[in-house]
Parts: sequence; structure tokens; C-alpha cells
Amino acid sequence: MSKIGFIGLGIMGRPMAGHLLAGGHTLYAFDPFGVSPELVEKGAIVGKNAAEVAKNADIIIMMVPDTPNVEDALFSAGGIAEGLTAGKIVVDMSSISPIETKVFAKKINDLGCDYLDAPVSGGDVGAKAASLTIMVGGPEAAFNTVLPIFQLMGKNITLVGGNGDGQTTKVANQIIVALTIEAVGEALLFASKAGADPAKVRQALMGGFANSRILEVHGERMVKRNFEPGFRIALHQKDLNLALQGARNLGLSLPNTATCQELFNAAAAAGGSAWDHSGMVRVLEKLANHEISSPSQAN
Ligand code: NAD
Repeated sequence: MSKIGFIGLGIMGRPMAGHLLAGGHTLYAFDPFGVSPELVEKGAIVGKNAAEVAKNADIIIMMVPDTPNVEDALFSAGGIAEGLTAGKIVVDMSSISPIETKVFAKKINDLGCDYLDAPVSGGDVGAKAASLTIMVGGPEAAFNTVLPIFQLMGKNITLVGGNGDGQTTKVANQIIVALTIEAVGEALLFASKAGADPAKVRQALMGGFANSRILEVHGERMVKRNFEPGFRIALHQKDLNLALQGARNLGLSLPNTATCQELFNAAAAAGGSAWDHSGMVRVLEKLANHEISSPSQAN
């Protein structure tokens, strides 16, 4: 059994850490906002800071919101780097900048430790069900060491390439998810304005070529008007920023990603930063001056 550190125990980190405890591992935990009593009851040992967690653990996992939070968790006073000795492995499962990831990895390598970027897809539902998709960048030997731990949290686990490639894969994932939410929103809006029941249209499309997890999950949210997160619009804006800044650096145009970011910006301006990302449809509805409504969903 391994000694694992877990830094960042929010919506995603909490259930993921729970699976590691259930798998029989020793878990050292730190979050500046505290560790849930439920995890402590299950045996999590709370550290006074990230450095103490890193000192006690052999593998240290981070699950924090954004690039500055990862930098802070790693390199601030009392951060992970202070507690590292050669041979440990640092694993970042947050969704952050692929470019900064390479810089962080190099600094951790200079301390004699390996670094894996291992962001996830599957949401809080996947975190609870231990069915996350995990996309990994880093050295193969470190990946093989951590694989049994990843397997306690996820199902589709792929070593994509070197450091940064896991985060690049996650940005690609977020491009597809945003554009598909936009497509499903437009399609259901069109159907509703044309007088068809969008709930039935969604059901009809689910058997065919237009089916997707987004049509199933986010399409249902649009029809049922359920915009409680889930995945907050503010986090998706962060991910599309990474896509658009990356595209700029690479000399690449991503026109529809830019449009989706503008729609998220408009949703945020309407007070929707904390809506589920399926709430993008509300902006399309404003443009159309028509709200999706489903006779079969009316109660
Ligand atoms: P969250 O805000 O619920 O949790 C993040 C936790 O990190 C918080 O408890 C916070 O206190 C802690 N934290 C922040 N800065 C820290 C620091 N410097 N040191 C230690 N802890 C710190 O966010 P979340 O929804 O759990 O998302 C975490 C990451 O996972 C994000 O990068 C997000 O994009 C990604 N993600 C989220 C989902 C989702 O559905 N929520 C799905 C896939 C990926």
C-alpha cells in the first residue's frame, strides 16, 4: 500500500481521495479550506500544510482549480516542493496550462522527483463513480508506478506523451465539449421554435449519428431547465482561455472555440458564472428571443 498525499479536496478531490482510502492506502490531506470530516472519519491524516503532506507521502496528488493555484500549492512557502526528497512523484490532476505544466515539471525534476500531469474528464458524477477518464503526460516509469492508483479513480487511462501532453489533451476535450454544448443548444432551440417538442426531438436523435454524451446529459438539462452545476461556466471559461491563448501562441485560428467563449462570456455577464455549462443555451435563447419549452416536461 502506498503513502499518498492529496492537496485540494473540493467537488472533485473529495470523492477521488475517498476512493484511495477505500483502496487501503494511507492518505495525507491538505486544503486551505479544511478537509471534510467524512474523509477524516475514513482515516485521512490532515497535514498543517502541503509541505508536511509531501514530506510524509511518496506520491503527492493535486486537484485545485487553476494554474496559479497549482503554482501556489507547489512553490509557495509551506508548499509541496519544501517537503520533497528525491524519488517522490508529484501528480497534478487539475486542468491547467500545458505550457506552465512543462515549467513546473522541470522545477520538480530538478529536485530529483518525477512529475505527471493527469487531468480528468467525467465530472463530479465520474469522480463519485470512480469512472473518470484520465489523460496523462510524463515519464512511462512514473506512469506505471501511479497506474494502480489512477485505476481506483478512473477507467479510461491513457499515457499520451511527455509532460504537458495530458493537459493539452484536456484542452482538446474542453473544445469538443463546448462546441457540442453549443450545437445541441442550437438544435434544440431550432426544434422548439419550429413547434416540435424538444424532449421528443432529443429522444429521437439519441439513437442516431447525432448522439453524444452531451446530447444525453446536457440536452436533458436544457429541456428540464436544470442549470445547477455540475461543471461551472467559470471553469469552462478558464479552459477555453487556455485553448485560445495556446492557439495564439501556436499561430492557429479556432473560430468556433472563440464563439463559444463569447457565449460563455455573455452568460457570465448575465450572472451565470456559477451556472452549469449547459446554461450557455440561455444566451442562444436570448439571441433567438425564444426559450426552449417542452410540453411533455410541463408539470
Ligand atoms: P473546487 O473549487 O470544488 O475544488 C478545488 C479545491 O482546491 C478547493 O477545496 C480549494 O480550497 C483547493 N485549493 C485552492 N487552492 C489551493 C492551494 N493553493 N493549495 C491547496 N488547495 C487549494 O474545484 P473542482 O470542481 O474540484 O475542480 C478542480 C479541478 O478539476 C479544476 O481544475 C477543474 O477544471 C477540474 N475538473 C472539474 C470537473 C468538475 O466537474 N467539477 C470536471 C473535470 C475537471
